[in-house]
Amino acid sequence: MAFESDEPLDLLWKEYGLAFREFDDLTLARWLAQTLGQLEGKAWRASHPLLGTYRLAAQAAHDRQIWLKRLATPPAAYPESPCCRAPFLPLLTRDVRDAGLICQHCNETLVPLDEIPSEVRADLEGWAAQYEPVHAVAHWDDRQRKNAGNYDRAYEKAAEAAEQLLARAGRELVSKLLEHYPAVVWEDHDECLEVRPEDVAL
Ligand SMILES: [Zn+2]
Repeated sequence: MAFESDEPLDLLWKEYGLAFREFDDLTLARWLAQTLGQLEGKAWRASHPLLGTYRLAAQAAHDRQIWLKRLATPPAAYPESPCCRAPFLPLLTRDVRDAGLICQHCNETLVPLDEIPSEVRADLEGWAAQYEPVHAVAHWDDRQRKNAGNYDRAYEKAAEAAEQLLARAGRELVSKLLEHYPAVVWEDHDECLEVRPEDVAL
């Protein structure tokens, strides 16, 4: 999500992000605060264009320490993040057991797993535990692939399972998280299994 590689798509996102680099600090702070108002109370696909745009602006803001300057007031529903003091906007990924919920502003851990409210945590852990062996199929070594017999078939089955698991995250898990957080973003693709957002139907 950090658009830091030199892959063609990441370079394109860097180019998109130049629009926000040209905003002055006050304009950028106001744009972010206003957009957080629109994001509030809902769960968002990470692939949603509004979220992609918000992340670009958030990165420009993070680089320039906009939130420390207190130029605009975000909506009251958003507490301050412990990681970077930006408003609290968590991202749910399949790595939730190791990385917790991720900050959309600085890409660090925003909520470690053991600080996620217990009534949601068990569900998230169960979901991630189910997802792990499915995702692992994409990273099988030669021996594992041979043992599977038809690896293409195994890969395809894993991709289908990942689609279902991601859909479950978007249908059930995020609504539980929304009871505790002002807005939630969920990862709606799996690059290693070639699952695209449009494959994940809610
Ligand atoms: Zn942060």
